[in-house]
Amino acid sequence: MTILSPWGELPAVPVYLVVAFLGACFGSFANVLIYRLPAEVSLIKPPSRCPHCEKDIAWYDNIPVVSWLMLRAKCRHCKAPISIQYPLIEAVSAGLAVLAVWKFGLSYSGMAHGLLFIGLLSLIIIDLRHWLLPFAITIPLTVIALIGSAFFDMLPLKVSLIGAGVGFGVFLLLMLGGQWILKKEAMGGGDVVFGAMAGSFVGWQLVLLMMFVASALGTLLALFLLLLRKDVVGRSIPFGPFLAIALVICLFWGHYAIEWYIGFLGGPQALTF
Ligand SMILES: [Zn+2]
Repeated sequence: MTILSPWGELPAVPVYLVVAFLGACFGSFANVLIYRLPAEVSLIKPPSRCPHCEKDIAWYDNIPVVSWLMLRAKCRHCKAPISIQYPLIEAVSAGLAVLAVWKFGLSYSGMAHGLLFIGLLSLIIIDLRHWLLPFAITIPLTVIALIGSAFFDMLPLKVSLIGAGVGFGVFLLLMLGGQWILKKEAMGGGDVVFGAMAGSFVGWQLVLLMMFVASALGTLLALFLLLLRKDVVGRSIPFGPFLAIALVICLFWGHYAIEWYIGFLGGPQALTF
């Protein structure tokens, strides 16, 4: 089994192992983002510490997944337990990086989508806990997508820019409309920049589909909870996780919906720019 790379055909297994390791390292960074961004703590200082005894964590105790297993989930110094969330995020990130390279190739696009998936994982957890979609994640990912469209193997730059504009614009209208009609904040600036980020990765057609799919997923979950007779009336859950899952669905299967729609309208000329 081989994988096509800018350096010719490479054996797939060692490549995926390296990709998984890199993904786990970014997962380690995702853990830092998940804890520090909502707390508005610097990402660089202080270096990783045990929250219990506050001793710095040495590099050899900070190897993704491996160190947690070696330390048996306890701090080397004070033996305080280390949450399973750390190795779990790292392992899932390793899998997401492999998935991205499998789907988008060993290329700039594969790297960008790997970072997107790990970023989405961080956004889902941060939004569930704090109702935040930090710009510190969505803005760099937008830039990564636009650079990929301008110079590498991603969407044509025009498609990416229009996608970012449509995502930003539609969410901005929804946010302002929601404030005007409901007289309360239904959406935040975080959603608006998320829209721009998603659009820069998938273009305007799929970013609209993403919004539709996210709303559908939200509605389905609400109906499901009602069926289970859970007390959901008047409760709310953040929209970010639905957007993130919808974006991944659109990345993998959205083109089928677009092709069907183009056929439905009577030919490819209907949606050309
Ligand atoms: Zn400790």
